[in-house]
Amino acid sequence: MTFLGKLFGNKQDSIDTHNKPKDERRAECPYCHKILSKIPRAKTKCSHCGMFIFVRTRPSGHKELVTEDDLPRIAKEWASEMLKRDSQKQKETGIETLHLARNNIRGWVGSNVVRSLKLYTAEDEKVCKLCRRMHGKIFPIQTTEQIDFVMNNAHIKGCENPNGCRCYWRPEEISIG
Ligand SMILES: [Zn+2]
Ligand SMILES: [Zn+2]
Repeated sequence: MTFLGKLFGNKQDSIDTHNKPKDERRAECPYCHKILSKIPRAKTKCSHCGMFIFVRTRPSGHKELVTEDDLPRIAKEWASEMLKRDSQKQKETGIETLHLARNNIRGWVGSNVVRSLKLYTAEDEKVCKLCRRMHGKIFPIQTTEQIDFVMNNAHIKGCENPNGCRCYWRPEEISIG
């Protein structure tokens, strides 16, 4: 399995089940490092130093005993991990829609009845300035250059959204014979 595969796996909402969390908990206080009578399962007070021991799972899947001072850092780790998983998910969807768009365009070119395509954007606040300007523009698909242009811009070139603005193409001018 690749590194990314390990990180994101198939189930992206929860910790990947293929990547079973490794339990790194030992019966040792993270403050005074003295041996505890048993491994804490949740917030526990150390019988030696009286400090509160916390149990946390790290984004890597490791379950650890940590100190109170570790908590903000681990929370930050999780926040950036969630962002990373989210953008990966978006990237995958973006690649999928690009394949779909190109397949559609190929089909319309092959049909020999579609003369031009019109570009539409999702028309919401997430659409970038460039794509907004391109909304409603019509592009002929009659010459090789024109077809290449549309294929290369199936995701609008220069789009400010790394994963595309969910723009899509539809046949505009259709003529038979
Ligand atoms: Zn202790
Ligand atoms: Zn855009």
